[in-house]
Amino acid sequence: MFRRMLRLGWGRGQDLSVRRLSIRKRGSTLDWNGRVSEFKKKIRSILPGEDRNPLYDTSHLPPERCDVVIVGGGVLGLSVAYWLKKLEKRQGAIRVLVVERDHTYSQASTGLSVGGIRQQFSLPENIQLSLFSASFLRNINEHLAVVDDPPLDLKFNPLGYLLLASEKGAATMENNVKVQRQEGAKVCLMSPEQLRNKFPWINTEGVALASYGMENEGWFDPWCLLQGLRRKVQSMGVFFCQGEVTRFISSSSSMKNTSGEEVNLKRIYEVHVKMDHSLEYQPVECALVINAAGAWSGQIAELAGIGKGPLGTLQGTKLPVEPRKRYVYLWHCPQGPGLEAPLVSDSSGAYFRREGLGNNYIGGRSPTEEEEPDPKNLEVDHGFFQDKVWPPLAQRVPAFETLKVRSAWAGYYDYNTFDQNGVVGPHPLVMNMYFATGFSGHGLQQAPGVGRAVAEMVLEGHFQTIDLSSFFFSRFYLGEKIQEHIII
Ligand SMILES: Cc1cc2nc3c(=O)[nH]c(=O)nc-3n(C[C@H](O)[C@H](O)[C@H](O)COP(=O)(O)OP(=O)(O)OC[C@H]3O[C@@H](n4cnc5c(N)ncnc54)[C@H](O)[C@@H]3O)c2cc1C
Repeated sequence: MFRRMLRLGWGRGQDLSVRRLSIRKRGSTLDWNGRVSEFKKKIRSILPGEDRNPLYDTSHLPPERCDVVIVGGGVLGLSVAYWLKKLEKRQGAIRVLVVERDHTYSQASTGLSVGGIRQQFSLPENIQLSLFSASFLRNINEHLAVVDDPPLDLKFNPLGYLLLASEKGAATMENNVKVQRQEGAKVCLMSPEQLRNKFPWINTEGVALASYGMENEGWFDPWCLLQGLRRKVQSMGVFFCQGEVTRFISSSSSMKNTSGEEVNLKRIYEVHVKMDHSLEYQPVECALVINAAGAWSGQIAELAGIGKGPLGTLQGTKLPVEPRKRYVYLWHCPQGPGLEAPLVSDSSGAYFRREGLGNNYIGGRSPTEEEEPDPKNLEVDHGFFQDKVWPPLAQRVPAFETLKVRSAWAGYYDYNTFDQNGVVGPHPLVMNMYFATGFSGHGLQQAPGVGRAVAEMVLEGHFQTIDLSSFFFSRFYLGEKIQEHIII
């Protein structure tokens, strides 16, 4: 009878108390609720402990113990999970748990991004990360195929990025392209005349130089990558839990550093996960925590005590990652650029690309510090398009004079206020918290490489493929910015 009840979906305490179902069988009425409550009473009388409820379903709870807890199930958290399982020495050696508070990802950056990948960065690390990602995406089904499931189609559009520089930015653009080529990226420089020949719909007034990515650049479906990673890591034995990480329990010890300063070292040994729609929480013992909470990773760092110390000390140094709201507008323009149009990033900061085949386009512009909108909700400011995005776009592509905005959305950049670059690797004081965050608008395309780098760090103690030591947390304390010139 017990099995039958569970099969009927009656295992949940709530259902049992709420439903009153009667089933007529061969002329007699069976009062299932009465039976169940009798049955529960009987079990309670023979089992020790008043609180125990053998009919309570615990499948939504995370495991009590695992090796690695990943906070955040966006593209970065999932990529770390994937690479940890892929690189583990023995199958099943590492127990990995991904904790994600919103399985619809309604506010997560990944699904709200515009899906772009480019090699046109100024830092060799960023170029290498994106080169690796391009090869990962190209071979997506070698990495993420799951037996008996259909192959992934990322809907990759290999149309490149076209960056435009004014007289003022031309020399920097030339230097950037030199670095990109040294790292193996195929990028060409174009004069205004060459630009006019190739893309006649561009008004080159005010353009001194352009750089154009000829390979490994374009855009793809970020949701497909996210779901593909989720499906794959589940097939590799990664645990998932819908809940919110609300607390870390740590042990600590003090020691003196080389300059005689006392430092407090911490090690997290338990993560508290608050279950969805409930006050219930589950403690999870663990050896290591990955902070992949995207725009909210600054808050997760704070929960672990990071930044809670005297100003100017390592202990008092915060993780400088916060949510910054970015708008994306979708417009229709029958006379707009044709199917060959790349993602165009204007010297004004405005950008656009085609969206599908029906003469629809998406685009936007990052606000200046003074224009930064309040990030407390994801409402769209349509005035921002009218005043700040449309004028430079219509100046650059005259056909856009007649565009009609059809819809818009907003998402959060996981914005690193210090130098707009990623943060990767362990915290120097909270020694078992590792970061995979802060990519400020280029985290989607770098997720495959970053996940691999974090897994290498965890499993081997050092980077094995791309050296990302310049992305360590310690730079915030040391005041050493790593400046990326091309942030879109
Ligand atoms: C408008 C826009 C356009 C963009 N365009 C591009 C682009 O073209 N190319 C590119 O490479 N990048 C782009 N990005 C940036 C990119 O989307 C992000 O860098 C990337 O998605 C970050 O991934 P993530 O996994 O760190 O964050 P997210 O996808 O935000 O995932 C973090 C997850 O952590 C969860 N979480 C937070 N706190 C907790 C907690 N306490 N407990 C449990 N879970 C928690 C959240 O629910 C969330 O799902 C864009 C971003 C935006 C907003």
